[in-house]
Amino acid sequence: MKIGDAAAQLGTAAHVLRHWEDEGVVVPDRTAAGHREYSDEHLSRCRIVLSCQSVGLSLAEIRAILHRGETGRASVIAARLSAIRAQRTALDSAERFLLHVRHCRHDLMTRCPECSEYAG
Ligand SMILES: [Zn+2]
Repeated sequence: MKIGDAAAQLGTAAHVLRHWEDEGVVVPDRTAAGHREYSDEHLSRCRIVLSCQSVGLSLAEIRAILHRGETGRASVIAARLSAIRAQRTALDSAERFLLHVRHCRHDLMTRCPECSEYAG
């Protein structure tokens, strides 16, 4: 299918697909006239790329993990997992802080040891 149809099916924009092509992440076939042609397999690959982006991976990182045999694959995944876990820790901390503030009995947050502790 044409790039516009592929983009519509994926819920993304044609310029995004052209960028992915430039980056070598998803390279469509070309018709005899030179137009981009996306197969079902290209679309599947695009959906994987979208999934990878949704967990915070860059195109360079995605390129490095698409194939099981890529060198650096394990370290890219390990780094992303580590970042996600750090984000979770920060979010848990933010949640605990807000839950505390909601019920904090101090008139001023500055006088509350727990409130102050969060600021570090
Ligand atoms: Zn407090």
